[in-house]
Amino acid sequence: MDISVIIPLYNEEESLRELYEWIKRVMDENNFTYEIIFVDDGSTDGSWNIITELKEKSEHIHAIKFRRNYGKSPALQCAFQKAQGDVVITMDADLQDSPDEIPELYRMIKEEGYDLVSGWKKKRYDSILTKNLPSKLFNATARCVSGIKLHDFNCGLKAYRKDVVKNIELYNEMHRYIPVLVKSAGFTKIGEKPVQHQPRKYGKSKFGASRFFNGYLDLMTLWFLNRFGKKPMHFFGVLGTLMFFIGFVAVIIVGATKLYDMHHGNPYRLVTESPYFYISLTMMILGTMLFLGGFLGELISRNSPERNHYRIEEEF
Ligand code: UDP
Ligand code: MG
Repeated sequence: MDISVIIPLYNEEESLRELYEWIKRVMDENNFTYEIIFVDDGSTDGSWNIITELKEKSEHIHAIKFRRNYGKSPALQCAFQKAQGDVVITMDADLQDSPDEIPELYRMIKEEGYDLVSGWKKKRYDSILTKNLPSKLFNATARCVSGIKLHDFNCGLKAYRKDVVKNIELYNEMHRYIPVLVKSAGFTKIGEKPVQHQPRKYGKSKFGASRFFNGYLDLMTLWFLNRFGKKPMHFFGVLGTLMFFIGFVAVIIVGATKLYDMHHGNPYRLVTESPYFYISLTMMILGTMLFLGGFLGELISRNSPERNHYRIEEEF
C-alpha cells in the first residue's frame, strides 16, 4: 500500500464528509493505493456516525474510537501502530490542511529520501495574537533547543516514512515536537514543505492559550530526556557537586577568616552571625540533595524496561 492518511478528530462532524471526498479525489487522480485511518478522540457530537456511514461507502476507511477524550498525541500514536502504508501522512480534520499536498509530500519521501517532511504554514490563517505571534516564539525556541531547522514544528500536516512512525512514541502532548522525537530516534533527514493553509471553516480550535505554557514545559522535558534520560547522574551530579563545592569553600573561608582575626587579636564575631555562613550551609544542603536526586534517577532509569532498548537500523 502506498499511503496511510491518519486523521485525529475531536468533534469535527461538519468537516468529515467534505474531507473524505477531497482525499478520495486526490488519491484516485494519482492512482495511489491507500487507507484512511480516522481516530475519533472521544467526540461527543455526530462524528462517529458519519465515519461509520463513510465506511459503508468505502473499504479504504479504518477507524478507532476512544471511549473518552485523550488528546491528539494518543490518537496519533494509536493510528501509527495500525498504519500499513509505505508513506504515512497525518492531517487535521478541520479542513485547515489541504489534501492536495499529498502527492508532493509522497514524492519527497519516496524519491528524495526524506524520513519526515513537515508542513510549513507559510501564510497562516489563524488569529495573530493568540496563534501566530506565540507560535513564532515557540518555533524559535524549539529550533534552538533541538537544532532542527524547521519553521513550523507543530503543523498537523506531516509525511513520514513508515519506519519512522513505528519507531517513535507519542504521549501526553508530544505531537508538538514530533520532529524532535524523530531526530532522537535516529532519523536525521527531516525536511519541510510550504503548504496551503485555510481558516477554520467549521467548529472552533480545540487548544486554548494553555498550549504555550504546556508546550514549553514539554520542550524542557524532551531536552532533558534526550540528553540525560539514560544518565540522570550526569545532570544532577554535576550541579550537585558544583553547589556543594562552592558552599564548602565558602564555609571554610568564613571559618578561616574568624580564626585569622582571633589569632591577630582583631575584633571578630561568631560564624553564626555571618549571613555567608547560612548561604554556604544552604548551598551544601541543596548540593547534597541534587546529588541524591541523581542517585535516585539512576536507580529509576536502571529499572526501566527500556534501558536496553536500541533502535537497530540494519543487522547481518
Ligand atoms: N484533536 C484531537 N483531540 C483533541 C484535540 C484536537 O484529536 O483533544 C484534533 C482536532 O479535531 C483536529 C486536530 O486535532 O483535527 C487539530 O486541532 P485544532 O484544529 O483544534 O488545532 P489548531 O488548528 O487550532 O492548532
Ligand atoms: Mg486547526
